[in-house]
Amino acid sequence: MGRLPGGGLAKGLAVTLRTMTRRSITRQYPEVQPDLPPRSRGVIALFEENCTVCMLCARECPDWCIYIDSHKETLPAEGGGRPRTRNVLDRFAIDFALCMYCGICIEVCPFDALFWSPEFEYAEYDIAELTHEKERLREWMWTVPPPQAHDPSAEPPKEVAAAEKAAARAARSPRTGPPPGPGERG
Ligand code: SF4
Ligand code: SF4
Repeated sequence: MGRLPGGGLAKGLAVTLRTMTRRSITRQYPEVQPDLPPRSRGVIALFEENCTVCMLCARECPDWCIYIDSHKETLPAEGGGRPRTRNVLDRFAIDFALCMYCGICIEVCPFDALFWSPEFEYAEYDIAELTHEKERLREWMWTVPPPQAHDPSAEPPKEVAAAEKAAARAARSPRTGPPPGPGERG
């Protein structure tokens, strides 16, 4: 069957009309800020107090864009014990010109010292300014959203489930209560 002459034109006009009557979805940024999901990967924030200078994040970063300097400090022990040494953080910087926002550093940090903030407005005219030192990384902590509430229908954490199982076992067992004393064993 042959096509009607002008059929393609009519089809094209129909698409144009349909699109014209649809609500525009143009984002009016920067006049209107985008409504970003709380887990957006905007910038990395450092909670310095939690950092033990273990270097795990710098070692695992695929871009080598985390720079850490530290020195050791010896603390005199109280009560005549051996003096303790601890790492003191001198420099912690992330070069966001190199960072690929993979999140590995945040995942591997064993001490919850790194967090995602959804903040993204930190473009610079000078690329060197994209290296954020620890003071600036600390400032981003103010923009880190609180952790999301647990999904009520999700499985409980493994630790809680294990503790509940142990408590249920103890409640079922006839030998509850404190263990018998030396003379009480039958
Ligand atoms: S997000 Fe990835 S690339 Fe960026 S600093 Fe962390 S580990 Fe490195
Ligand atoms: S992994 Fe965490 S604790 Fe270790 S150096 Fe990096 S930020 Fe600090």
